[in-house]
Amino acid sequence: MEQVIIVGAGPCGLSAALELQNAGIDPLVIEKQSVVHSIYLYPTYIQFFSTPELLEIGGFPFNTPNEKPTRAEALHYYRTVAMRRGVRIRPYEQVTAISKLDERFRLSSLDRAGRSGSYESRHVILATGYFDHPNMIGIPGEQLSKVSHFFREAHPYTGMKVAIIGGNNSAVDAAMELVRVGAEVTVVYRGEAMSPSVKPWVRPLFDSLVNKGRIRMLFRSRVVRIDETFITIQREEGTETADNDFVLALTGFRPDREFLKSTGIRMEGEAEKPFFDPATMETNVKGLYLAGVIAAGSEANEIFIETGRHHGTMIANHIVGGEGRV
Ligand SMILES: Cc1cc2nc3c(=O)[nH]c(=O)nc-3n(C[C@H](O)[C@H](O)[C@H](O)COP(=O)(O)OP(=O)(O)OC[C@H]3O[C@@H](n4cnc5c(N)ncnc54)[C@H](O)[C@@H]3O)c2cc1C
Repeated sequence: MEQVIIVGAGPCGLSAALELQNAGIDPLVIEKQSVVHSIYLYPTYIQFFSTPELLEIGGFPFNTPNEKPTRAEALHYYRTVAMRRGVRIRPYEQVTAISKLDERFRLSSLDRAGRSGSYESRHVILATGYFDHPNMIGIPGEQLSKVSHFFREAHPYTGMKVAIIGGNNSAVDAAMELVRVGAEVTVVYRGEAMSPSVKPWVRPLFDSLVNKGRIRMLFRSRVVRIDETFITIQREEGTETADNDFVLALTGFRPDREFLKSTGIRMEGEAEKPFFDPATMETNVKGLYLAGVIAAGSEANEIFIETGRHHGTMIANHIVGGEGRV
């Protein structure tokens, strides 16, 4: 019987683990991949938009010579903090079900060898993020192997015709990197203008590449079909086809709603936000808490590491204060 099990070893799950340790509880963390897997999936050469002190967890200083840390520095920071503090992590084990018994929770899991596991805990913190559920566009051809919902690095696209679907930071960053390897880049976005959340120091560089004709930018446009050698784009003036080798559908992510619902957590409103008490992060299921971006429902940009790293403190206070007793 564990006192607290945390599902997910992202930055916010780890932060919760450290806060619980500080409060005298030694939680078990179950992670379906490796520690901070979401950051591992970031584009290889990306720089964070946050300064390092805003990404710190457990009071450990995040030192970097750069104004903003790189992906590699963040991977190093989070895994080092977790190891130094001896956080008990079970990697490559997915929690497949959570059910509430009288005074405790039962969790079922499956590891990468296909072995099933079973755990019991008085409290559970869900910190499962959203990165493994891309928003699907739902168009013919989306399942082709030339389509990806993640952008890692530009090299494989050297000299190829690449369409990027999206108008946010990930689309802008990918487009600029692709131009540097000689890819022919078309960005297709349904909006009237790029998202206002695009990093202000990147925006002028992107605009300049568009103005010089190095990136073809199509606003108020949608890719409606993907074929092996071309795509079909719906524009205001009509439908056009364009030769194409690869599609990067960078359309964002959403949490695993079905998994959340199966735990008994109530979902609310159009954004399907899971219900929780903002002072304690406890959901409508007593003893079951949320930490990190999973609490944001489909408005995934509302919570990020800067903010979600503080959830653990509220949860630890609630559990240790005795009010969180199941
Ligand atoms: C390119 C990019 C750049 C970003 N830059 C910044 C930035 O500069 N500053 C900032 O604050 N934020 C940034 N973000 C956002 C940030 O990455 C997320 O807000 C953050 O990862 C959320 O942390 P989390 O712990 O809530 O979830 P995640 O990091 O998504 O971690 C969830 C973990 O749970 C695991 N998991 C999921 N389901 C299960 C299961 N059933 N069983 C076991 N484990 C499970 C996953 O494998 C994962 O490791 C950026 C995001 C991207 C994509």
